[in-house]
Amino acid sequence: MHSLVVATQNRGKLDELRALLGPLGVKVLSVQDVTKREIVVVEDGDTFEANAKKKAQTVSGVTMMLTIADDSGLEVDALGGAPGVRSARFAGERATDAENNAALLAALDSLDADPGGPRTGASYKARFRCVLALVDPFVKDGEPIVVEGTCEGKITRTPRGSGGFGYDPLFLVEGTDKTMAELDEAEKNRISHRGRAFDKLRLVLEKVLAERDAITRKVCG
Ligand code: IMP
Repeated sequence: MHSLVVATQNRGKLDELRALLGPLGVKVLSVQDVTKREIVVVEDGDTFEANAKKKAQTVSGVTMMLTIADDSGLEVDALGGAPGVRSARFAGERATDAENNAALLAALDSLDADPGGPRTGASYKARFRCVLALVDPFVKDGEPIVVEGTCEGKITRTPRGSGGFGYDPLFLVEGTDKTMAELDEAEKNRISHRGRAFDKLRLVLEKVLAERDAITRKVCG
């Protein structure tokens, strides 16, 4: 069985990626499982892609294992794409999900109160974006393979649901009357930014695993 490291400290992401990777029959490990310590990666990129690549390359460089990293976040059009790459830190370094959600609602309230603002009232158009980077440290000098997925929706002022994590209770999924937090994990993974990015990565990953199998067969006879 192949093992793969998911380069994240975020429990919600780890659980969702475990569920997505499950059918591929790989053993999914956290960074903590492999190194027995945290690997701190400063997420100083201006884009999700830059941060996802940096996380995947750093962790695969330490573990020398096949590694997937996720950089993701919420983009609200009326806020010029914020919180964006700062989604995890919108309310400050080490902010909790509840603090970030409160900061988002406060930012939208300020927009409503601004006479020159868009004054859309209750809901603002938004999307979740996820970039996944896959690194095989033994192929092409660990050059990352990058895929992206988005999920459109709008922000509701009244949080609903207890599933998922992060901004899920405030995100009304387009074409449904549900927030992301009202979907169960399988439903979320089917339509979410992360699920859509993973759909693109699945074929690549299957190929990488098949190539590793072929090498093992050759070496072991
Ligand atoms: P990162 O760890 O720097 O990629 O930041 C991810 C942050 O984006 C999380 O802490 C959440 O605030 C937000 N986020 C990303 N994906 C999701 C999701 O699926 N649901 C809700 N919030 C998300």
